Amino acid sequence: MTTAFNNAATTFSHGGHDHGTCVETALAAAAGICTKRGARLTPLRRRVLELIWRGHAPVGAYDLLRALAKKQPGAAPPTVYRALDFLLAHGLVHRIESLNAFVGCAHPQQVHGGQFLICSDCGAAAEVHDPRVDAAISRRAAELGFTVRHKTVEVQGLCAPCQDRLQEAGHGN
Ligand SMILES: [Zn+2]
Ligand SMILES: [Zn+2]
Ligand SMILES: [Zn+2]
Repeated sequence: MTTAFNNAATTFSHGGHDHGTCVETALAAAAGICTKRGARLTPLRRRVLELIWRGHAPVGAYDLLRALAKKQPGAAPPTVYRALDFLLAHGLVHRIESLNAFVGCAHPQQVHGGQFLICSDCGAAAEVHDPRVDAAISRRAAELGFTVRHKTVEVQGLCAPCQDRLQEAGHGN
């Protein structure tokens, strides 16, 4: 994968990059993974993935349903949930539990627990993707005889652009 894509996906991107490339790369990666695994990336599943990738901020299932219904009247919640289950099962998206929302994965080729820095102001989520964090959690879990089911790390805070914006707003007063 191109470094430009990785940089865009692992930093907080507010426009300042060619997001079309992110979407194209993600869709191409998804198609490749599905072909390799003999899984079917149906037009609906692809469309849901594309909708999730409309930006780097996590998208809720209800928003997905609403966006989908524009082109596909009668799209029912179970349809969307089934598509999401498929995308999750193949590691193409991550579920952000604290926001009850979904975000595209920029590294779907490797199995990994999601690690995210989430901006509580603009809602953007940057995937950290550090294998050392995964390893540390697995090691500690093994020491405690703990069976890990989901390994998503969600860190809340403020992204740099939002800090700048809030600081400027503060100076204005
Ligand atoms: Zn992007
Ligand atoms: Zn990921
Ligand atoms: Zn922000």
